[in-house]
Amino acid sequence: DSRAGAARITELLGEIESLLEELEPELGRMDAIAGDGDHGQGMVLGIRAAHSTAQRAAEAGAGARTVLVQAGASWSAEAGGTSGALWGAALTSVGSAFSDQEKVTDEQVVTALVQAVEAIERLGGAKPGDKTMVCAAVPFRESLAGADGAAGEAIVTAAEKASAAAEATADIVAHKGRARNHGDKSVGTPDPGAISFSKIVTLLGRQLSA
Ligand code: ADP
Ligand code: MG
Ligand code: MG
Repeated sequence: DSRAGAARITELLGEIESLLEELEPELGRMDAIAGDGDHGQGMVLGIRAAHSTAQRAAEAGAGARTVLVQAGASWSAEAGGTSGALWGAALTSVGSAFSDQEKVTDEQVVTALVQAVEAIERLGGAKPGDKTMVCAAVPFRESLAGADGAAGEAIVTAAEKASAAAEATADIVAHKGRARNHGDKSVGTPDPGAISFSKIVTLLGRQLSA
């Protein structure tokens, strides 16, 4: 049933929390080049809130849908910043594709991730080329949308596209987000939000294909 899914989701959020704690200084340094330096901190605050909310909900017997919808709301509320609002909406969107009663299927996972990226695109209004997380998220979404078969393998392949696209944002002059105010100061440094996105989906692929 979906309670096994809720426990697994909580465990995955814990893995992402460890990853983001490890990346915090690097993401902060990247954001300081053309932004305000708080991307690492914001991501850690967000995932910690999401993880602890998920833990409480799962322990109280909530299913996969409720666990993620509540985790997303916590992420947005606690992280602050642009990326906090977008990641919160993404988690809530993933949860909305699941049920509280039924086991989560591979097909639902792929659909949920496609819809989560669409939520990020809709809410932020950024396009690939704007030097934001959308530069990594759109190639990820497109790769997933064309995939068939096991979700884990599809996510691994899509995450490779996201990582390459995130690295390539180093060459872009920023248009959106705080970085836009700093023009070409950010050239040579990748967008921190694109990097954190690619690292998170890489971890997800590794965990779900293991
Ligand atoms: P803030 O910019 O509010 O300080 P963060 O530092 O946590 O928030 O996040 C910055 C990241 O947010 C950027 O690196 C970029 O990837 C992402 N971002 C900024 N604006 C947008 C947008 N309109 N759409 C999508 N992502 C965005
Ligand atoms: Mg910032
Ligand atoms: Mg900020």
